Amino acid sequence: MNSFYDRLGIKTVINAADSYTMIGGSIMPQEVIQAMIEASRNFVSLEELHLAVGARIAELTRNEAAVVTSGAAAGLTVSVAACMTLNEPSRAIELPRTEGLRGEVLIFGNQRNGFLKSVDLTGARIVELNEQGPDTAKQLEEAIHDQTACLLYFDTIGYALSDLSLEHIIRICKARGVPVIVDAAAQLPPVENLWRYTEMGADMVIFSGGKTLRGPQSSGFIVGKLAYIEACRLFIGARESIGRPMKVGKEELAGILAAIERYVGLDSGLVKEAHDRLAQSLCDQLSEAGIQAALTYPGPTGQDYSLVRVDCSALSLRSDEFAEKLWSGTPSILIPSPSDPDTFTLNPLHIQEQEAVIIVNRLKEILSENA
Ligand SMILES: *Cc1c(COP(=O)(O)O)cnc(C)c1O
Repeated sequence: MNSFYDRLGIKTVINAADSYTMIGGSIMPQEVIQAMIEASRNFVSLEELHLAVGARIAELTRNEAAVVTSGAAAGLTVSVAACMTLNEPSRAIELPRTEGLRGEVLIFGNQRNGFLKSVDLTGARIVELNEQGPDTAKQLEEAIHDQTACLLYFDTIGYALSDLSLEHIIRICKARGVPVIVDAAAQLPPVENLWRYTEMGADMVIFSGGKTLRGPQSSGFIVGKLAYIEACRLFIGARESIGRPMKVGKEELAGILAAIERYVGLDSGLVKEAHDRLAQSLCDQLSEAGIQAALTYPGPTGQDYSLVRVDCSALSLRSDEFAEKLWSGTPSILIPSPSDPDTFTLNPLHIQEQEAVIIVNRLKEILSENA
Protein backbone atom coordinates (compact mmCIF):
# COMPACT_ATOMS: atom_id res chain seq x y z
CA MET A 1 0.00 0.00 0.00
CA ASN A 2 1.22 3.46 -0.84
CA SER A 3 -0.88 6.30 0.51
CA PHE A 4 0.28 8.81 -2.09
CA TYR A 5 -0.66 6.65 -5.08
CA ASP A 6 -3.80 5.40 -3.32
CA ARG A 7 -5.00 8.97 -2.85
CA LEU A 8 -4.64 9.53 -6.59
CA GLY A 9 -6.35 6.24 -7.37
CA ILE A 10 -3.29 4.86 -9.16
CA LYS A 11 -2.18 1.23 -9.00
CA THR A 12 1.44 0.52 -8.15
CA VAL A 13 3.51 -1.78 -10.33
CA ILE A 14 5.81 -4.66 -9.49
CA ASN A 15 8.73 -4.32 -11.87
CA ALA A 16 9.78 -7.74 -13.16
CA ALA A 17 10.83 -6.16 -16.46
CA ASP A 18 13.71 -3.68 -16.42
CA SER A 19 14.54 0.00 -15.81
CA TYR A 20 11.71 1.27 -17.98
CA THR A 21 10.91 4.96 -18.12
CA MET A 22 7.20 4.27 -18.53
CA ILE A 23 6.91 2.78 -15.03
CA GLY A 24 9.30 5.17 -13.28
CA GLY A 25 12.83 4.04 -14.11
CA SER A 26 14.09 2.56 -10.86
CA ILE A 27 13.68 2.92 -7.09
CA MET A 28 16.05 5.34 -5.35
CA PRO A 29 17.87 3.91 -2.31
CA GLN A 30 17.64 5.78 1.02
CA GLU A 31 21.05 7.45 0.69
CA VAL A 32 20.02 8.98 -2.65
CA ILE A 33 16.75 10.31 -1.24
CA GLN A 34 18.61 11.61 1.81
CA ALA A 35 21.09 13.51 -0.37
CA MET A 36 18.18 15.08 -2.29
CA ILE A 37 16.48 16.15 0.94
CA GLU A 38 19.74 17.71 2.20
CA ALA A 39 20.23 19.59 -1.06
CA SER A 40 16.65 20.84 -1.02
CA ARG A 41 17.19 22.88 2.15
CA ASN A 42 19.32 25.71 0.80
CA PHE A 43 19.76 27.99 -2.15
CA VAL A 44 23.08 27.54 -3.88
CA SER A 45 24.75 28.70 -7.09
CA LEU A 46 23.52 26.13 -9.57
CA GLU A 47 26.58 26.63 -11.76
CA GLU A 48 28.95 26.12 -8.85
CA LEU A 49 27.04 22.99 -7.81
CA HIS A 50 27.15 21.63 -11.38
CA LEU A 51 30.93 22.09 -11.49
CA ALA A 52 31.51 20.53 -8.07
CA VAL A 53 29.24 17.53 -8.77
CA GLY A 54 30.78 17.10 -12.24
CA ALA A 55 34.29 17.10 -10.77
CA ARG A 56 33.33 14.49 -8.18
CA ILE A 57 31.63 12.28 -10.79
CA ALA A 58 34.72 12.54 -13.01
CA GLU A 59 36.86 11.35 -10.12
CA LEU A 60 34.51 8.48 -9.20
CA THR A 61 34.27 7.31 -12.80
CA ARG A 62 38.00 7.79 -13.58
CA ASN A 63 37.35 10.37 -16.28
CA GLU A 64 38.84 13.76 -17.13
CA ALA A 65 35.50 15.51 -16.71
CA ALA A 66 31.77 14.94 -16.33
CA VAL A 67 28.52 16.87 -16.53
CA VAL A 68 25.03 16.02 -15.29
CA THR A 69 22.05 16.13 -17.66
CA SER A 70 18.33 15.52 -17.19
CA GLY A 71 18.66 11.92 -18.40
CA ALA A 72 20.66 10.15 -21.09
CA ALA A 73 18.26 11.44 -23.74
CA ALA A 74 19.21 15.01 -22.83
CA GLY A 75 22.83 13.85 -22.82
CA LEU A 76 22.44 13.07 -26.52
CA THR A 77 21.21 16.60 -27.26
CA VAL A 78 23.88 18.27 -25.15
CA SER A 79 26.83 16.17 -26.34
CA VAL A 80 25.94 16.54 -30.02
CA ALA A 81 25.39 20.29 -29.57
CA ALA A 82 28.83 20.47 -27.92
CA CYS A 83 30.46 18.83 -30.94
CA MET A 84 28.69 21.23 -33.30
CA THR A 85 29.91 24.34 -31.48
CA LEU A 86 33.19 23.12 -29.98
CA ASN A 87 35.33 25.59 -31.93
CA GLU A 88 32.77 28.38 -31.89
CA PRO A 89 31.35 28.63 -28.38
CA SER A 90 29.94 32.11 -29.02
CA ARG A 91 27.55 30.49 -31.49
CA ALA A 92 26.12 27.94 -29.06
CA ILE A 93 23.12 30.20 -28.61
CA GLU A 94 22.28 29.93 -32.34
CA LEU A 95 21.29 26.25 -32.24
CA PRO A 96 19.07 24.76 -33.61
CA ARG A 97 20.06 27.05 -36.51
CA THR A 98 23.15 25.40 -37.94
CA GLU A 99 24.28 27.67 -40.80
CA GLY A 100 28.04 27.74 -40.84
CA LEU A 101 28.36 25.12 -38.11
CA ARG A 102 29.29 21.46 -38.44
CA GLY A 103 25.82 20.08 -38.86
CA GLU A 104 26.13 16.37 -39.64
CA VAL A 105 25.97 13.45 -37.22
CA LEU A 106 27.06 10.03 -38.45
CA ILE A 107 25.29 6.90 -37.22
CA PHE A 108 25.19 3.31 -38.42
CA GLY A 109 21.85 2.38 -39.97
CA ASN A 110 21.18 -0.62 -37.72
CA GLN A 111 21.51 1.67 -34.68
CA ARG A 112 18.71 4.01 -35.72
CA ASN A 113 16.31 4.32 -32.78
CA GLY A 114 13.77 6.60 -31.16
CA PHE A 115 16.32 8.47 -29.04
CA LEU A 116 17.61 10.20 -32.19
CA LYS A 117 14.80 12.73 -31.66
CA SER A 118 17.18 14.16 -29.06
CA VAL A 119 19.69 14.78 -31.84
CA ASP A 120 17.06 16.38 -34.09
CA LEU A 121 16.61 19.07 -31.43
CA THR A 122 20.11 20.37 -32.12
CA GLY A 123 19.25 21.05 -35.75
CA ALA A 124 21.89 18.54 -36.89
CA ARG A 125 21.26 16.31 -39.86
CA ILE A 126 21.64 12.59 -39.26
CA VAL A 127 23.66 10.78 -41.90
CA GLU A 128 23.17 7.02 -41.92
CA LEU A 129 25.97 4.63 -42.80
CA ASN A 130 25.37 1.12 -44.02
CA GLU A 131 26.47 -1.23 -41.23
CA GLN A 132 27.02 -4.20 -43.52
CA GLY A 133 29.34 -5.15 -46.32
CA PRO A 134 33.07 -5.69 -46.65
CA ASP A 135 33.91 -1.99 -46.81
CA THR A 136 32.25 -0.58 -43.72
CA ALA A 137 35.54 1.04 -42.67
CA LYS A 138 36.09 2.64 -46.06
CA GLN A 139 32.50 3.84 -46.13
CA LEU A 140 32.98 5.53 -42.78
CA GLU A 141 36.23 7.15 -43.93
CA GLU A 142 34.51 8.50 -47.02
CA ALA A 143 31.49 9.80 -45.15
CA ILE A 144 33.64 12.09 -43.01
CA HIS A 145 34.05 15.64 -44.31
CA ASP A 146 34.25 19.21 -43.02
CA GLN A 147 30.56 19.27 -42.06
CA THR A 148 30.83 16.21 -39.82
CA ALA A 149 30.16 17.16 -36.20
CA CYS A 150 30.59 13.70 -34.65
CA LEU A 151 29.87 10.02 -34.86
CA LEU A 152 27.24 8.69 -32.49
CA TYR A 153 27.48 5.05 -31.43
CA PHE A 154 24.80 3.23 -29.44
CA ASP A 155 26.24 0.43 -27.37
CA THR A 156 23.56 -2.06 -26.51
CA ILE A 157 22.79 -5.68 -27.25
CA GLY A 158 21.78 -6.20 -30.87
CA TYR A 159 23.41 -2.98 -32.13
CA ALA A 160 26.91 -4.33 -32.73
CA LEU A 161 28.34 -4.13 -36.23
CA SER A 162 29.45 -7.37 -37.82
CA ASP A 163 32.53 -5.95 -39.52
CA LEU A 164 33.66 -3.04 -37.42
CA SER A 165 34.53 -2.82 -33.73
CA LEU A 166 34.03 0.32 -31.66
CA GLU A 167 37.84 0.50 -31.26
CA HIS A 168 38.26 0.54 -35.03
CA ILE A 169 35.54 3.18 -35.45
CA ILE A 170 37.27 5.37 -32.85
CA ARG A 171 40.61 4.95 -34.62
CA ILE A 172 39.15 6.02 -37.98
CA CYS A 173 37.34 9.02 -36.49
CA LYS A 174 40.29 10.13 -34.37
CA ALA A 175 42.61 10.12 -37.37
CA ARG A 176 40.21 12.56 -39.04
CA GLY A 177 39.51 14.75 -36.04
CA VAL A 178 35.90 13.60 -35.62
CA PRO A 179 34.71 13.10 -32.04
CA VAL A 180 32.97 9.87 -31.06
CA ILE A 181 30.02 9.90 -28.66
CA VAL A 182 28.97 6.57 -27.13
CA ASP A 183 25.44 6.23 -25.80
CA ALA A 184 25.93 3.64 -23.05
CA ALA A 185 22.75 4.67 -21.22
CA ALA A 186 21.86 1.18 -20.01
CA GLN A 187 25.33 -0.41 -19.95
CA LEU A 188 25.64 -0.90 -16.20
CA PRO A 189 26.67 -3.33 -14.82
CA PRO A 190 29.57 -3.83 -15.16
CA VAL A 191 30.79 -0.79 -13.24
CA GLU A 192 33.98 -0.76 -15.36
CA ASN A 193 31.92 0.59 -18.26
CA LEU A 194 32.02 3.96 -16.50
CA TRP A 195 35.64 4.27 -17.67
CA ARG A 196 36.05 1.54 -20.31
CA TYR A 197 34.75 3.53 -23.29
CA THR A 198 36.78 6.64 -22.53
CA GLU A 199 39.88 4.50 -22.04
CA MET A 200 39.12 3.07 -25.46
CA GLY A 201 39.28 6.61 -26.84
CA ALA A 202 35.63 7.74 -26.95
CA ASP A 203 35.40 11.52 -26.47
CA MET A 204 32.08 11.52 -24.61
CA VAL A 205 30.06 8.69 -23.07
CA ILE A 206 26.46 9.02 -21.92
CA PHE A 207 24.84 7.17 -19.01
CA SER A 208 21.32 7.19 -17.63
CA GLY A 209 20.95 8.00 -13.93
CA GLY A 210 17.55 6.41 -13.50
CA LYS A 211 18.33 2.86 -14.59
CA THR A 212 20.62 0.43 -12.73
CA LEU A 213 22.35 3.33 -10.99
CA ARG A 214 19.08 4.02 -9.16
CA GLY A 215 19.53 7.77 -9.16
CA PRO A 216 16.67 10.22 -9.85
CA GLN A 217 14.64 9.17 -12.89
CA SER A 218 15.25 12.53 -14.57
CA SER A 219 19.03 12.37 -14.30
CA GLY A 220 21.91 11.21 -16.42
CA PHE A 221 25.46 12.31 -17.12
CA ILE A 222 28.18 12.60 -19.73
CA VAL A 223 31.78 11.65 -19.00
CA GLY A 224 34.74 12.40 -21.24
CA LYS A 225 37.47 14.73 -22.38
CA LEU A 226 37.67 18.07 -20.62
CA ALA A 227 37.37 20.22 -23.77
CA TYR A 228 34.18 18.44 -24.81
CA ILE A 229 32.60 18.53 -21.37
CA GLU A 230 33.37 22.26 -21.20
CA ALA A 231 31.62 22.67 -24.54
CA CYS A 232 28.62 20.79 -23.06
CA ARG A 233 28.41 23.32 -20.23
CA LEU A 234 27.20 25.98 -22.67
CA PHE A 235 23.94 24.00 -22.83
CA ILE A 236 23.60 23.35 -19.11
CA GLY A 237 22.00 25.12 -16.19
CA ALA A 238 20.35 28.52 -16.34
CA ARG A 239 22.00 29.51 -19.63
CA GLU A 240 19.91 30.56 -22.57
CA SER A 241 20.28 27.67 -25.05
CA ILE A 242 18.50 24.64 -26.46
CA GLY A 243 19.53 22.91 -23.22
CA ARG A 244 17.44 25.22 -21.02
CA PRO A 245 14.27 23.04 -21.15
CA MET A 246 16.46 20.13 -19.96
CA LYS A 247 17.37 21.81 -16.69
CA VAL A 248 18.64 19.69 -13.81
CA GLY A 249 17.62 20.79 -10.31
CA LYS A 250 19.92 20.93 -7.29
CA GLU A 251 18.11 17.94 -5.79
CA GLU A 252 18.75 15.79 -8.88
CA LEU A 253 22.39 16.89 -8.89
CA ALA A 254 22.71 15.70 -5.30
CA GLY A 255 20.78 12.51 -6.04
CA ILE A 256 22.79 11.40 -9.05
CA LEU A 257 26.06 12.04 -7.24
CA ALA A 258 24.91 9.97 -4.25
CA ALA A 259 23.75 7.21 -6.61
CA ILE A 260 27.12 7.05 -8.35
CA GLU A 261 28.99 7.12 -5.04
CA ARG A 262 26.86 4.23 -3.87
CA TYR A 263 27.15 2.28 -7.12
CA VAL A 264 30.94 2.41 -7.42
CA GLY A 265 31.18 1.31 -3.79
CA LEU A 266 29.02 -1.77 -4.27
CA ASP A 267 30.60 -5.20 -4.26
CA SER A 268 29.51 -6.22 -7.75
CA GLY A 269 30.06 -9.90 -6.97
CA LEU A 270 27.60 -9.66 -4.08
CA VAL A 271 25.07 -7.74 -6.19
CA LYS A 272 25.23 -10.37 -8.91
CA GLU A 273 24.88 -13.11 -6.29
CA ALA A 274 21.80 -11.40 -4.87
CA HIS A 275 20.24 -11.15 -8.35
CA ASP A 276 21.05 -14.77 -9.10
CA ARG A 277 19.75 -15.89 -5.70
CA LEU A 278 16.45 -14.07 -6.23
CA ALA A 279 16.18 -15.51 -9.74
CA GLN A 280 16.88 -19.02 -8.38
CA SER A 281 14.32 -18.59 -5.63
CA LEU A 282 11.71 -17.51 -8.19
CA CYS A 283 12.59 -20.56 -10.29
CA ASP A 284 12.20 -22.88 -7.30
CA GLN A 285 8.88 -21.38 -6.25
CA LEU A 286 7.56 -21.64 -9.80
CA SER A 287 8.71 -25.25 -10.15
CA GLU A 288 6.97 -26.13 -6.89
CA ALA A 289 3.81 -24.66 -8.40
CA GLY A 290 4.23 -26.91 -11.44
CA ILE A 291 5.45 -24.12 -13.71
CA GLN A 292 8.64 -24.92 -15.60
CA ALA A 293 11.29 -22.26 -15.16
CA ALA A 294 15.05 -21.99 -15.57
CA LEU A 295 17.79 -19.38 -15.27
CA THR A 296 18.94 -17.73 -18.47
CA TYR A 297 21.84 -15.35 -19.24
CA PRO A 298 22.55 -12.54 -19.90
CA GLY A 299 20.45 -9.59 -18.68
CA PRO A 300 18.27 -7.69 -21.16
CA THR A 301 20.99 -5.32 -22.39
CA GLY A 302 23.71 -7.92 -22.16
CA GLN A 303 24.47 -7.49 -18.45
CA ASP A 304 26.07 -10.21 -16.40
CA TYR A 305 23.16 -11.47 -14.33
CA SER A 306 20.47 -14.06 -14.79
CA LEU A 307 16.83 -13.81 -15.76
CA VAL A 308 14.13 -16.40 -15.11
CA ARG A 309 12.80 -17.98 -18.27
CA VAL A 310 9.34 -19.48 -17.85
CA ASP A 311 8.29 -22.20 -20.26
CA CYS A 312 4.56 -21.92 -20.89
CA SER A 313 4.33 -24.35 -23.81
CA ALA A 314 2.55 -26.90 -21.58
CA LEU A 315 0.32 -24.30 -19.92
CA SER A 316 -3.13 -23.11 -20.90
CA LEU A 317 -2.11 -19.57 -21.91
CA ARG A 318 0.33 -18.00 -24.35
CA SER A 319 3.12 -15.73 -23.10
CA ASP A 320 1.40 -12.54 -24.28
CA GLU A 321 -1.78 -13.60 -22.42
CA PHE A 322 0.27 -14.06 -19.23
CA ALA A 323 1.85 -10.64 -19.76
CA GLU A 324 -1.56 -9.02 -20.21
CA LYS A 325 -3.11 -10.71 -17.16
CA LEU A 326 -0.10 -9.90 -14.96
CA TRP A 327 -0.31 -6.27 -16.04
CA SER A 328 -4.04 -5.92 -15.49
CA GLY A 329 -4.04 -7.39 -11.95
CA THR A 330 -3.60 -5.52 -8.67
CA PRO A 331 -0.82 -4.68 -8.14
CA SER A 332 0.19 -4.61 -11.78
CA ILE A 333 3.14 -6.81 -12.64
CA LEU A 334 5.21 -5.82 -15.65
CA ILE A 335 7.36 -8.43 -17.39
CA PRO A 336 9.61 -7.96 -20.46
CA SER A 337 7.55 -8.03 -23.63
CA PRO A 338 7.61 -11.72 -24.71
CA SER A 339 9.32 -12.50 -28.00
CA ASP A 340 7.79 -15.94 -28.56
CA PRO A 341 4.45 -17.48 -27.55
CA ASP A 342 5.96 -20.31 -25.47
CA THR A 343 8.22 -18.42 -23.10
CA PHE A 344 8.36 -15.26 -21.06
CA THR A 345 10.99 -13.93 -18.69
CA LEU A 346 11.14 -12.33 -15.26
CA ASN A 347 13.99 -9.93 -14.57
CA PRO A 348 15.14 -9.91 -10.92
CA LEU A 349 16.86 -6.50 -11.24
CA HIS A 350 14.08 -4.42 -9.67
CA ILE A 351 12.03 -7.12 -7.93
CA GLN A 352 11.99 -6.40 -4.23
CA GLU A 353 12.41 -9.38 -1.91
CA GLN A 354 8.80 -9.53 -0.70
CA GLU A 355 7.45 -9.19 -4.24
CA ALA A 356 8.69 -12.58 -5.49
CA VAL A 357 5.92 -14.35 -3.57
CA ILE A 358 3.28 -11.98 -4.98
CA ILE A 359 4.45 -12.72 -8.52
CA VAL A 360 4.37 -16.49 -8.00
CA ASN A 361 0.95 -16.37 -6.34
CA ARG A 362 -0.44 -14.23 -9.12
CA LEU A 363 0.83 -16.67 -11.75
CA LYS A 364 -0.76 -19.58 -9.84
CA GLU A 365 -4.01 -17.64 -9.63
CA ILE A 366 -3.99 -16.88 -13.36
CA LEU A 367 -3.42 -20.58 -14.08
CA SER A 368 -6.25 -21.74 -11.83
CA GLU A 369 -8.61 -19.17 -13.42
CA ASN A 370 -7.72 -20.51 -16.84
CA ALA A 371 -7.47 -24.23 -16.15
C1 LIG B 1 17.34 4.47 -21.62
C2 LIG B 1 18.14 4.94 -22.77
C3 LIG B 1 18.21 6.31 -23.08
C4 LIG B 1 17.42 7.35 -22.32
O1 LIG B 1 17.80 7.45 -21.01
P1 LIG B 1 17.06 8.48 -20.01
O2 LIG B 1 18.00 8.59 -18.87
O3 LIG B 1 15.75 7.86 -19.68
O4 LIG B 1 16.89 9.77 -20.75
C5 LIG B 1 18.99 6.68 -24.15
N1 LIG B 1 19.67 5.78 -24.89
C6 LIG B 1 19.63 4.45 -24.63
C7 LIG B 1 20.40 3.51 -25.47
C8 LIG B 1 18.84 3.99 -23.56
O5 LIG B 1 18.81 2.68 -23.29
